[in-house]
Amino acid sequence: MIFEHLDTYGHEQVVFCHNKDVGLKAIIAIHNTVLGPALGGTRMWPYASEQEALNDVLRLSRGMTYKNAVAGLNLGGGKAVIIGDPATDKSEGLFRAFGQFVESLGGRYITAEDVGIDVNDMEFVYRETQFVTGVHQVHGGSGDPSPFTAYGTMQGLLASLNRKFGNEDVGNYSYAVQGLGHVGIEFVKLLKERGAKVYVTDINKDRVARAVDEFGAEAVGLDEIYDVDVDVYSPCALGGTVNEKTLPRLKAKIICGAANNQLANNAIGDEVEKRGILYAPDYAVNAGGVMNISLEIDGYNRERAMRMMRTIYHNLTRIFEISERDGVPTYMAADRLAEERIETIGKLKLPL
Ligand code: NAD
Repeated sequence: MIFEHLDTYGHEQVVFCHNKDVGLKAIIAIHNTVLGPALGGTRMWPYASEQEALNDVLRLSRGMTYKNAVAGLNLGGGKAVIIGDPATDKSEGLFRAFGQFVESLGGRYITAEDVGIDVNDMEFVYRETQFVTGVHQVHGGSGDPSPFTAYGTMQGLLASLNRKFGNEDVGNYSYAVQGLGHVGIEFVKLLKERGAKVYVTDINKDRVARAVDEFGAEAVGLDEIYDVDVDVYSPCALGGTVNEKTLPRLKAKIICGAANNQLANNAIGDEVEKRGILYAPDYAVNAGGVMNISLEIDGYNRERAMRMMRTIYHNLTRIFEISERDGVPTYMAADRLAEERIETIGKLKLPL
């Protein structure tokens, strides 16, 4: 049953980590290491069942293979999940025991923060293994990735504007930004600096107030964000916001934002394409976070990070080219770019 699952997704290795003394139950999934060590975060979540945890880690680790490949990194895809409640089940022993399991893989898997995990937890993991990113800046960590993710999203937007309108005049277009958290607010700032008309929404009223007062955005209601007459819809909150209900309401000609898993399903991705809306694939646009932590592996440098973010422009351009070349929606073209890169680079052999 489990091996069937691994066959479906094509995983290389799945490690079940157990330490009764500290209450650790974790799964590390290494999906693909053709391009390099598998990089991907550790998520802590009170999964209802072990099967649910396994499904999640298999799905997420595969996603990291595609994300890292499209980002142009020499890294494969992996992910870990710790079964537990982040509010009540955290301890030094738990994270150190987890760190020992990461260490035991000898660098095939490099971990990072994900949902339910913070920099303090990573400090404990770091005591047991060097194969960890997202540690505190005093240990060479890269710090909050959000400004980089926002800057990377801007690169994705420039490529999208160019594709759709043949120019990159950000300030000539209007935007609906949904979610003003770490990334969203930074993105609004970048848009307003370029003179754009920006509508915003968030469930957190203070964040909306900041976007309005500090950056001059215009607030709209939580549901109204789908109806505003704008050129670009930018999901920067939750996943699944492009769905059967919202898509018919969107007037935007481009969807480009930082949120993960924006399309509710592939059929919606096809429908987006049919309606002539250009979808900038989320995992290519929001790769700034993973690019940033990838630089920790051989010594973090802010300048290199900013240069790397600019490659998102070219990655998106390439995806749009593949979409046209193969006559497929852009979400599919992004996967093809990843698969082609893994295949080509995987075959490269340096002459001795
Ligand atoms: P965040 O938690 O700081 O911000 C999310 C914001 O969305 C919050 O302000 C929240 O109030 C708001 N929100 C939640 N539900 C909403 C709703 N229904 N309508 C409007 N607003 C709503 O998260 P973040 O770090 O800014 O990340 C935003 C998205 O980008 C997430 O999907 C995340 O997975 C993705 N992402 C972030 C990074 C990064 O570097 N932080 C990297 C890659 C992807």
